[in-house]
Amino acid sequence: MHELLTAFCHWTWYISGHKYMVCDLQGVYSNGKYILTDPAIHSFDQQFGSTDLGTLGMERVLGNHKCNIICSVLGLDNPMKNEYVQPGQRPTTYSFQVTEEMLLRKANGGKSNYFKFLDPIFE
Ligand SMILES: [Zn+2]
Repeated sequence: MHELLTAFCHWTWYISGHKYMVCDLQGVYSNGKYILTDPAIHSFDQQFGSTDLGTLGMERVLGNHKCNIICSVLGLDNPMKNEYVQPGQRPTTYSFQVTEEMLLRKANGGKSNYFKFLDPIFE
């Protein structure tokens, strides 16, 4: 389940043209089904509240993400695979440490140094 959820997170970034990322999903198995809870969404314009860390959050997630077989089958590329990201930091736990950088990033249209925004494949 963990591999599926992390691949889903990566896929949402890819399919949205690098503008959104659904992550932090927790899966609970109950009555023959998985129930997914606690999503956080990172968006290029940081429209989803305090856990939305914009493109900086996307970079942190991708920098901590190791692509798995599901990512490979989907043909997902990770531009952060060779970039150093502080290990162990979850993207929703350091918002106060990156606020200034986030504000600068937001003022710059949320642009990343690691990836460009594309037309979404699916909206
Ligand atoms: Zn991946």
